Amino acid sequence: MDFKQFIRTIPDHPKPGILFRDVTTLMANAEALKHAIDAMAAPFRAQKIDQVAGIDARGFILGGALSVELGAGFTALRKPGKLPWQTYREEYELEYGTDELHMHTDAIKPGDKVLLVDDLIATGGTAGAGLNLLQRAEADVIAAVFLVDLPDLGGANRLRQQGVDVHSLMEFEGH
Ligand code: AMP
Repeated sequence: MDFKQFIRTIPDHPKPGILFRDVTTLMANAEALKHAIDAMAAPFRAQKIDQVAGIDARGFILGGALSVELGAGFTALRKPGKLPWQTYREEYELEYGTDELHMHTDAIKPGDKVLLVDDLIATGGTAGAGLNLLQRAEADVIAAVFLVDLPDLGGANRLRQQGVDVHSLMEFEGH
């Protein structure tokens, strides 16, 4: 399936110069969503995945579906102030300022085989924070999985340099 045709591109959102790759149009299409989840799960069907860790918020939709597909649990990597129990916290750089991701300290057991999931990787700051959270819990991070990679921004290669296998269903040039 040509997944790119289901992504809506919005120029200058949220600010001038950004080409926003809107995945909601893929998610809203039943057949495209089913094929996308199937393709994201395919490389991991032969192994036991314990947890799928999805990044707030579009990573929850994809990660929830993937966890059911792979017979794994789901772990939420959330923005600050959302998780009710004790959390690990990782700060990451945005273009202006910083943001944080949190994960419950008891969500992942040491050695758990985990997939990290989000809709899109650009600079890799967000996914890098997710990876740090999983590593603090001593997870065995099997791969990071995305619908969309923007390779020119270097995030996927940065994750690979940290020893993580990175998969995506499509790439767009530029940013
Ligand atoms: P980054 O931390 O730079 O890898 O950015 C990844 C996060 O920002 C993901 O959660 C994306 O949803 C969002 N994002 C960054 N750039 C774009 C873009 N061009 N189009 C859509 N979403 C984006």
